[in-house]
Amino acid sequence: MVFIEALPGHVGETVEVRGWLANRRSSGGIHFLLVRDGTGLAQAVVSGKEVDAETFARADHLPAESSLILTGLVRADRRAPGGVEVTVRALTVVQEAAPYPITPKEHGVEFLMDHRHLWLRSPRQHAVMRVRAEVIRAAAAFLDGSGFLRVDAPILTPASVEGTTTLFDVEYFDLGRAYLTQSGQLYNEAAAAAFGRVYCFGPTFRAEKSKTRRHLTEFWMLEPEVAYLALDGYMDLAEAFVAAIVRDTLQHRARELATLGRDPEPLRRVVPPFPRIAYDEAREILAAAGKPVPWGEDFGADEETVISSHFDRPVFVHRYPAACKAFYMQPDPARPEVVLSADLLAPDGYGEIIGGGERIHDLALLERRLAEYGLPRATYEWYLDLRRYGSVPHSGFGLGIERTVAWICGLEHIREAIPFPRLLNRLSP
Ligand code: ATP
Ligand code: MG
Repeated sequence: MVFIEALPGHVGETVEVRGWLANRRSSGGIHFLLVRDGTGLAQAVVSGKEVDAETFARADHLPAESSLILTGLVRADRRAPGGVEVTVRALTVVQEAAPYPITPKEHGVEFLMDHRHLWLRSPRQHAVMRVRAEVIRAAAAFLDGSGFLRVDAPILTPASVEGTTTLFDVEYFDLGRAYLTQSGQLYNEAAAAAFGRVYCFGPTFRAEKSKTRRHLTEFWMLEPEVAYLALDGYMDLAEAFVAAIVRDTLQHRARELATLGRDPEPLRRVVPPFPRIAYDEAREILAAAGKPVPWGEDFGADEETVISSHFDRPVFVHRYPAACKAFYMQPDPARPEVVLSADLLAPDGYGEIIGGGERIHDLALLERRLAEYGLPRATYEWYLDLRRYGSVPHSGFGLGIERTVAWICGLEHIREAIPFPRLLNRLSP
C-alpha cells in the first residue's frame, strides 16, 4: 500500500491506494476518480480497456465519499493533481456511500457546521487542519529547542484564573464545585519555580457570552512561564516565538496557504522586532482615529483593529491600567496604576493572540490583590506559598492556538480553526 503523497516516487510501479472517492467525472468513455486518502488527492483513470466490464460499470455509478481500494499503474502526468495519475487495474469498493449531504453547490455556514464531522473532509478544511497541526508543532519545537520543559496543568480546578464571570462549573463528588480551567497559568507558576522555564498546552474554557468572530468557549492555549524574566524579556521571547511559528508554517504549509488563498507576503514580514507601544500611546492612536477610549477601559475588537492597522506586523501593547487585568499582574513600580503586562495584537483585525506579563512576586501585595478582587483566600493558599518559598520575579504568557491559526490562514471566523468548535450556540457535533 502506498500513500498518495508518496506516489511520485512510484512512477512505473503497480501500487495499491486506499481511500475515499472525493469526486468523479467521465469523458470520452473513461471514468476519472479523484481519490483522497488524507495525504493528498490522486486522479485514478478507469478505462474499459484496462478493467473488466463490471468494474467499469461500477466506477460510473460510485457515489461520492464511497470508500475504496484500488490497484493500478502510476504514471507521470504533469496536468494531474500531484503530478501523477493511476491507471486502474482493479477496484474494490469497501463501502458504497449513501447520498452525501455536502455537494459541490454552495451551502450555508450553519449547514456546514451541523455537518462538521463530514465537512472536515473538504480540501479547505484539510488545509486549515494541516496549518493548525503545524502551528502546534512549530510552537512546541521552538520551546523544546530553547530549554523549556513541558509540564501540563489540570483541567478540573478549584478556582478561577481569569476572573469568575466566565467559568464553567461541574459537580465534583463530595468536594462541591469544580471549574473547567480558563488558563494553566497558576500551576505553570508552580512549575516555573520548580524547573525555571516551562510551558503547558491544553484545552481551556471560557463561558464567554459574547458572539464574536474570535471567541470560542473551548480553545487551546500554549502557555510558557519563565522564572527571573521581566517584561522586556517576555516580549523578546514572545516575538521570537511567533516569528518562528509563522516562518515554519510558511516553509512547511505553503501549499495549504495557497489552497486557502492566503497571501504569504504579509506573513513574510512577521520578523522581530515587533513594535511595542504603551497603552497610553495606543489611546492616542485611537483618539486620532476618532475612537477615543476613556483611560482605564480595556480595548475591544474595533479598537484593536484600528491600532494594528498602523503597523505591518504584530504589535505589543504594554502597561495596561491595572483595573483591566487579572489580580496577579505586577504593577509598574514607576507608575503603580498600570501593570507590567503586554498583549500581542495580530494584524488585519485578528485581535489579541497573546496575553501575558510579569506576575506579582511579593507576598503581601498578592494577598492584598486577592482581597481586592474578592477571591477566596483559602483556595489560593498554595499559590501564595510560591511567594513564601523562594519567590522570584517571573513572567509568562498564553498564545491562543485558534486565533493564531485564524490569522495565519486568513479565516473569517475562528470556528474553522478548531476541528469541532464550541460556541455560545453550538455544542455539536
Ligand atoms: P479577549 O479580550 O480577546 O477576550 P483575553 O484578554 O480574555 O482575550 P487572555 O485571557 O489573555 O485573553 O488569554 C490569552 C490568549 O488566549 C488570548 O490572547 C487569545 O489568543 C486566547 N483567547 C482568549 N479567550 C479566547 C476565546 N474565548 N476563544 C479563543 N481564544 C481565546
Ligand atoms: Mg476574553
